[in-house]
Amino acid sequence: MNTQVRIYPDPVLRRVADSVENIDESIKKLIATMFEVMKLEGGVGLAAPQIGVNKRVIVISIDEKGFERFALINPVIDFFSDRKSKMEEGCLSVPGIRADVKRPSKIVVSGVGRSGRQISLETGGLLARVIQHEVDHLNGVLFIDRISEKEKKRIFEDLNMLINRANSSVR
Ligand SMILES: [Zn+2]
Repeated sequence: MNTQVRIYPDPVLRRVADSVENIDESIKKLIATMFEVMKLEGGVGLAAPQIGVNKRVIVISIDEKGFERFALINPVIDFFSDRKSKMEEGCLSVPGIRADVKRPSKIVVSGVGRSGRQISLETGGLLARVIQHEVDHLNGVLFIDRISEKEKKRIFEDLNMLINRANSSVR
């Protein structure tokens, strides 16, 4: 399996990922690979499209409370709080760029765990933020789509550098 993290503006990052029908060996292998890549790259979350796999699978690894290391298959956010908070985000697929993103502070997310168990989780703080960021990836949305006009202007040059780098590496 290809473990190369896809970098903006790679079009695979803009696709809407397909639901997983069966949690078979290929999905288990995908999850294992995603955990490896996330660890290797030092990320707190990773979505399958980021390694070019168009499936609704995310993995999360947050040190905060120790147990928040899990995979979610077909995650759905069932509830967003009205209250929002702002936090700086980055993304393995948008290297070198960080920007403030406003998101709902609390969410309820449901999905299927690696073992096939149904999971429903009410959460806030960093975990809620990472889950929203990763679920966005499954819908072809990047954090840079959710930032203020002011932030967009600030990172404009850096984004262009990524675009130019991609263009110059095309064979
Ligand atoms: Zn990301």
